[in-house]
Amino acid sequence: MNQAARQPAPTKGLNALTDLRGVGPALAEKLGRLGVYHPEDLLFILPLRYEDRTRITPIGSLTLGQRAVVEAEVELTEVAYRGRRVMLCRVSDGTAALTLRFFYFSRAQQAGLARGKRVRFYGEVRRGAAGFEMVHPEYRILNEANAKLDEHLTPVYPSTEGVQQGRLRNLINQVLDHGQAIFDYLPADLIDEHKLPTLINAVTYLHRPPKNAQLEQLTAGNHPAQQRLAMEEILAHHLSLRQIRQRAERLKAEAMPATTDGLSAKFISGLPFNLTGDQRKSLDVIYEDLAQKHPMMRLLQGDVGCGKTVVAAAAALHAVSADCQAAIMAPTELLAEQHRDNLQKWFKPLGVELAWLSGALKGKQRARTYEAIAAGTAQIVVGTHALFQEGLEYKKLGLVIVDEQHRFGVHQRLSFMEKGATGAHRPHQLVMTATPIPRTLAMTMYADLDVSVIREMPPGRQSITTVALPDDRRGDVVSRVRAACEEGQRAYWVCPLIEESEALNYQDAQSTYAMLCEALQDKSPGGIAVGLIHGRMKNDAKEAVMKSFAAGDIQVLVATTVIEVGVDVPEATLMIIENSERMGLAQLHQLRGRVGRSSRKSSCVLLYRPPLSQHATERLGVMRETGDGFVIAQKDLELRGPGEVLGKRQTGLMQMRVADLIRDAGLLPQIQELAQKLLRDHPDSSAAIMHRWLGKASEYGNV
Ligand code: ADP
Ligand code: MG
Repeated sequence: MNQAARQPAPTKGLNALTDLRGVGPALAEKLGRLGVYHPEDLLFILPLRYEDRTRITPIGSLTLGQRAVVEAEVELTEVAYRGRRVMLCRVSDGTAALTLRFFYFSRAQQAGLARGKRVRFYGEVRRGAAGFEMVHPEYRILNEANAKLDEHLTPVYPSTEGVQQGRLRNLINQVLDHGQAIFDYLPADLIDEHKLPTLINAVTYLHRPPKNAQLEQLTAGNHPAQQRLAMEEILAHHLSLRQIRQRAERLKAEAMPATTDGLSAKFISGLPFNLTGDQRKSLDVIYEDLAQKHPMMRLLQGDVGCGKTVVAAAAALHAVSADCQAAIMAPTELLAEQHRDNLQKWFKPLGVELAWLSGALKGKQRARTYEAIAAGTAQIVVGTHALFQEGLEYKKLGLVIVDEQHRFGVHQRLSFMEKGATGAHRPHQLVMTATPIPRTLAMTMYADLDVSVIREMPPGRQSITTVALPDDRRGDVVSRVRAACEEGQRAYWVCPLIEESEALNYQDAQSTYAMLCEALQDKSPGGIAVGLIHGRMKNDAKEAVMKSFAAGDIQVLVATTVIEVGVDVPEATLMIIENSERMGLAQLHQLRGRVGRSSRKSSCVLLYRPPLSQHATERLGVMRETGDGFVIAQKDLELRGPGEVLGKRQTGLMQMRVADLIRDAGLLPQIQELAQKLLRDHPDSSAAIMHRWLGKASEYGNV
């Protein structure tokens, strides 16, 4: 146990990046762009993988593709012309010979690699014209002073613009050598009690793993040293959310007393359907929250189609009955428009004034809307971010409703609340999400919010038939898409990548688009229109394509996984997903939720590229068996295998530096326990931990 690490950091030595050798203002600025402001931050850039340069491999036992350190004697170095100048250096170690190939070289390098010199080099074994070779290996001519082999595995860091690997290694080594520069804010008693590695031991291990380190465990991210850091990072987020929560409890809000004959009651009794039990229950707690004198902070979770909008509308009307305004915000223009159109239908008969605000609204129209909002004649305002623009004043904003909240970070959400502030008063806040999140995760990552869940679907919903097919059946699927379109239905065809990639053997959107245009557009009499949407398009262009699809000008939409959560295209009844074996369950579920939005039977085809791994087989099985988002979310935690990089970002959870909320979900109960103890017994430590991981953002709750 490193006792020194538990003492306060000595202030001399490493306070600023420029205290490191070789760091001037220019490099410090580059590092700043990577989120590195302090020497300590360097230690939290964790290696992606490791190289083993601790032992020498005889040339005779090298295998194709291997990366290895080799030590050998130069037999011949010559410059040849093979279309361009190449330097070829033939070396041998007695077991076999190997060629080193260089396309860029200096005269001095050529002279240095003279016959008889001993060289040590590191590179990847490739097949060359005359047996194995290495292209541009790192090498050095050996002498007595530099013959020592590395004692640790060599870390390979994520590519960091403008800061080279060697430079980064050097800087990180300087910080590690300084030792005391990193202070363990977790109190010693908690470290012991929870049997955690100390911070300094953890970072030292990760940047300098011993020769015999468990590489598999490190690659999977499950090593105790990695878990220690992940835990501290999640802890920091969790603490800051708890802090936000505590502060909110001291803020004031307009109390909106419960009524039985208000607008919301009228609205609900006028609906052509009855609320489901879960809608009813959520609404009851929302009314209870709104009657309080401090702001509601509630998350309403419920799968796509469960009817959150009705609940939101009733809550907004409740605010209007209490002489307040309500703002309903969606993340995109298209989603906001859908809300506007639905709500308008509901509110008009009630005589409630709805205003519409989007970034696209300009000039006089905007001025008029601003006036109506300031005067309070606009009682409910629907729109995008424009609802919280500088210069827009509400007469009395009592409730903010944010749809698809995972598209907005915690801090963005809080800033919406601030915009509606008057003195110590804040609007109530209801945030809604269709991303189902298992309970432990919700308790940790939404610790600032109370959570209501709608699990029940409105009666009469058709389940979506789901099949899994190997992708050599693509032709059959195309025929099926044609048949559906000819009947007036629409289809999504989702691909994991935009363009063809050499590295990944995936079906890409551009080739699929070309294939479908070829197969569908000219052969059919009416002509089926195919569209393409992907993440590299500008927002306006994306929305235009989405609108054409919604309007039916496009019938088959080829998409990467960017397609909007929540967009309602009832005519879309077919969802085809390529490389479904590579996607996480949460993502597959979200994608499938784009169809099944009408009384028509919908289907989802999961195309996969055989052979299927055990994990993938189980996942596709889950998709076929259930449509319940919460069951799927729980299975997602259980079944997530290594290598499923696609889709991590789709879960709607916040991105972290070190932690991965899915991978590290097992840590959550311990984190909650630690947070409790820290806040109770060590408030200073908890502030320091938040500051380390969240920087300035940790002060956000300071309102
Ligand atoms: P989401 O939760 O995805 O936002 P919506 O609020 O858009 O779901 O509701 C989906 C559809 O279900 C809408 O057409 C809505 O009018 C309808 N709906 C909502 N609640 C009920 C209910 N209790 N019974 C029948 N239909 C309902
Ligand atoms: Mg919705």
